[in-house]
Amino acid sequence: MLSLTDKVTALSGVGPKRQKLYQKLGIETVEDLLHFYPRRYEDFSHPLPLSQWQSQTTALVEGTLLKKYPPAYIRKGMTLYKGLITDGFSRCQITFFNNEYALKGLALGETYLFSGRLEKNLSGYQMTVSAVIPTEESETLRPVYRLTEGLPLKGVLRNIKDAIAAYLPLVKETLPAFLLKRYRLLPIKEAIASIHFPKDQKAFEEAKRRLCFEELFFFSLALFLLKGRPKEPNRVPIPACSMSPFYQSLPFSLTDCQKRSIDEILKDFSSPHPMRRLLQGDVGSGKTVVAAAACYAAAQSGYQSALMAPTEILASQHEKTLEGMLSPLGIRIGLLTGSLSQKEKMILRAGIQNGDFDVVIGTHALFQQATVFHRLGLVITDEQHRFGVRQREALIQKGDTPHHLVMSATPIPRTLALMLYGDLDLSVLDQRPAGRKPVETFVIHSDKRTRALHFLRKQIEEGGQGYIVCPLIEEGVGELTAATRYAEELKETVFRGISVGLLHGKMNAEEKDAVMSAFARGEISLLVATTVIEVGVDVPNANIILIENAERFGLSQLHQLRGRVGRGERESYCILLSDHDNPDTRRRLSVMRKSNDGFFIAKQDLKLRGAGDFFGEKQHGVPVLGIADLMEDSLLFQTAREEARSLLKEDPKLEKEEHRPLSEKVQHDWIQKKLWTE
Ligand code: ADP
Ligand code: MG
Repeated sequence: MLSLTDKVTALSGVGPKRQKLYQKLGIETVEDLLHFYPRRYEDFSHPLPLSQWQSQTTALVEGTLLKKYPPAYIRKGMTLYKGLITDGFSRCQITFFNNEYALKGLALGETYLFSGRLEKNLSGYQMTVSAVIPTEESETLRPVYRLTEGLPLKGVLRNIKDAIAAYLPLVKETLPAFLLKRYRLLPIKEAIASIHFPKDQKAFEEAKRRLCFEELFFFSLALFLLKGRPKEPNRVPIPACSMSPFYQSLPFSLTDCQKRSIDEILKDFSSPHPMRRLLQGDVGSGKTVVAAAACYAAAQSGYQSALMAPTEILASQHEKTLEGMLSPLGIRIGLLTGSLSQKEKMILRAGIQNGDFDVVIGTHALFQQATVFHRLGLVITDEQHRFGVRQREALIQKGDTPHHLVMSATPIPRTLALMLYGDLDLSVLDQRPAGRKPVETFVIHSDKRTRALHFLRKQIEEGGQGYIVCPLIEEGVGELTAATRYAEELKETVFRGISVGLLHGKMNAEEKDAVMSAFARGEISLLVATTVIEVGVDVPNANIILIENAERFGLSQLHQLRGRVGRGERESYCILLSDHDNPDTRRRLSVMRKSNDGFFIAKQDLKLRGAGDFFGEKQHGVPVLGIADLMEDSLLFQTAREEARSLLKEDPKLEKEEHRPLSEKVQHDWIQKKLWTE
């Protein structure tokens, strides 16, 4: 008996090895594989001569292979396979990364279609080939999947073909018939067959529309159901207390939006249900002090607070900040991170369990099983998108439905935030603390690097501090040497006589912390860093940041990096270095030059990249849609949302018999698997 829940190994040609690769993509069963849709189709039907493509675009060229060069080993795990082609007018060097067989499989003198990124410079044309097919191959649409290394497209296509042949008849329609009719949507079986093997672009679009609609419809149903769910009672009531001791001890006065957010939190504390609140604020907007206020109030009622940060640097910075604000008021603060020795951890954990600490700050070590709280009333997660849902859950479980504050600097538009964090209330910090000046931003070519470095030196000589974000080839192997060499070079040239520190991902937490603290104390004036400084590090005296290869970063990431400066009274600068001249890159970077507003930048970023890339794969906690794109498909989303709403109006809990399959799918696939379940 076949079943859609059969493991992929039920398909011929799938052994344990391929099963593992599939698992990496989240594919366990045949059903998962059927729903593993291509992102798009590459169209091989319109090749053009080399001269007609712009540099730094994805080009499709019909070319004859003239030469194969010996492979070039760049370093461990990186070999280039190069060849030479001609389109009849010009020649072009082609490169395959780490793909021995791609070039081997091509015959000299034969003609193929090459698709890939084209660069044109003084030495001529160069293409980094991403796909190549024989010219006479009639197939013009080629699927692009989000594949993982070692999983060959051909094999995947065969597996999908087999799965469709044997299992498609078992697939059941998921959408109500009236919706299929109203929006002229393909039946599910047809859609699945056609999304994998469309006969033309139009067939693909139709299949995609149907599947997007389905996804957005279920997404909406799930969000509505979550929101409408009966809420738990507040088992951690924290009555209003006087906040003035806290306010009076601050070295600055709060912004209006900080006050408002704190008030909202205090109100939640004593409301009938536990707090579930998202505090969103641009970098530097001052979220930490809001968190401190919440901890203060919780402690006044005898509750412990846990503050979870994604990195050790950030955790220990929070500890220092909160220590400064709260210990004078008699609040005891502990720091629990992975780098403590076993013994230290044990002692600290004993203290946490005893109630010796009112506020515990930490990294993932916080939610490990061994940590037991005495009376946990409040959980705060900083930079929440870096945590998985499960990690947050684990921490919440440590108390009896504690209040939960989620802090995020990812400045997504309000509407999108509400869609994504549908069941959270929202507080927004939309003002900067007084006295902040916008960071003046420049975009320059590397031929001006020396001048920029001298400018940086001048800032340091005038008492400021600076960051340089390294040109880094790739996280990992090359990172260490590249960064070290670069820092050495700077020390011996422009920055002679200035204390230069180095921060990179290969350092352990203690080393990082030592460097960061020295920088914070002003003992280091220039910090050369790979992107590890990105998260939340706060050194108000730092006023200049130079970012190499700025084109490699997304806009929001650049904004985060830039947010390391402009935190104090000093005039601040951000210098973006990039030699990429294609119009897209220039346009992106000029957004940075023109705006200091994280929300505006995020919107531009979303527009330029689409939500899929914006949230990326590393961003946990947001339900990643499989096929639909909230921005691109926003009209379809509205439609699907309206339909979901009206269906729930008629049957609020999807209890009617005819809605049973719908209800099961929403519960199982969406609420349990993809969305928040606290
Ligand atoms: P983020 O929102 O990026 O986490 P932080 O909480 O790190 O921002 O705050 C950034 C800096 O601004 C810190 O040095 C903090 O002390 C300072 N700050 C916060 N609120 C105010 C305020 N109302 N007035 C002046 N400075 C403030
Ligand atoms: Mg922060």
